[in-house]
Amino acid sequence: MKAIRGATTIIEDTPAEIRSAVKELLDEICLKNFLLEDDILCILFSNTSDIRSFYPAKAAREAGYSSPALFSSAEPEIEGALPLCIRVMLLVENCQDVRHVYLRNAASLRKDLQKFSIALDGPSGSGKSTVAKLLAKKFNILYLDTGAMYRACALKAISAGVDMQDNSAVSSLMQTLDLKIVYSEGSQHTVLDGKDVSEDIRRPEVSMAASKISALRCVREKMVEMQRKIASEQSCVLDGRDIGSFVLPKAEFKFYITASSKVRAKRRYDELKAKGFDVDLDSLQKEIEERDRNDSTREFSPLKQAEDAVLVDTSDMTVNEVVQTICAKIQEKV
Ligand code: C5P
Repeated sequence: MKAIRGATTIIEDTPAEIRSAVKELLDEICLKNFLLEDDILCILFSNTSDIRSFYPAKAAREAGYSSPALFSSAEPEIEGALPLCIRVMLLVENCQDVRHVYLRNAASLRKDLQKFSIALDGPSGSGKSTVAKLLAKKFNILYLDTGAMYRACALKAISAGVDMQDNSAVSSLMQTLDLKIVYSEGSQHTVLDGKDVSEDIRRPEVSMAASKISALRCVREKMVEMQRKIASEQSCVLDGRDIGSFVLPKAEFKFYITASSKVRAKRRYDELKAKGFDVDLDSLQKEIEERDRNDSTREFSPLKQAEDAVLVDTSDMTVNEVVQTICAKIQEKV
């Protein structure tokens, strides 16, 4: 036997509202847990004391739950409790993975159940970060740019004059790494040794260095640990190379964003030009191809499409089209 929890809220204490909220809650619990009515042994309700006009148990019976034993009780008045709230517990048989259901304002009671991660992987310049920022805004969740973390490691190595290929020198450098990802006014800031390096890490020479240093196991292990911790604490969208395949293999939504190297080089060119960098399109394309090679051929945690990731080729798509495609896939799955 298993116990499934759920809760919902109403706006006004009326029989009609209680009937519809109870039906919606029970139907959703059955749907999410693949339950048939015969699997339910009993349904126990408790409601806040501001609900007096109708018994939730009676609403369940009216909604067609005719065989389970039903019971309702009123909770004591507790200051600060979520008002007009109906809680439920179902005792069930034949249920493998229990999924609790919190609807309407009651969703705020169980933020842990609502937590989800969106993994966006793909090669440099595929448009991941632009799309990730828009998705984060749309779903009101955090955006974690994991590339910025590898860039910060590269910047530290450049400043310390450490050779990116020298595993033991980089490994000792990593012991002294003081990297913090902070959020202010809705955007991510990369703070290295107490200094905001968000702009410095975008310099073209840091890009190539990041691609080299990120191949080292000692670097990846440290960064992946930080990324997993951040993602375990809240819903977020992460972009990188190995998020869906390695960092968060259980991410709820996974996408692999790509585009031809020509299109990606042109995008990087426009971006860097707009920032005032003097760059050359051909060398950018060569550099991007070299980074692709580094990223996808490295031994530890290479760039790769997770088996369950949805492929999105953005070569001929606008940013809005990409966001719409991803949102449609997410809606399909929930
Ligand atoms: O995405 P961005 O170009 O800022 O990343 C910089 C470099 O960091 C990439 O070229 C890649 O080699 C590395 N990276 C990585 N794994 C991630 C994110 C970035 O190896 N999850």
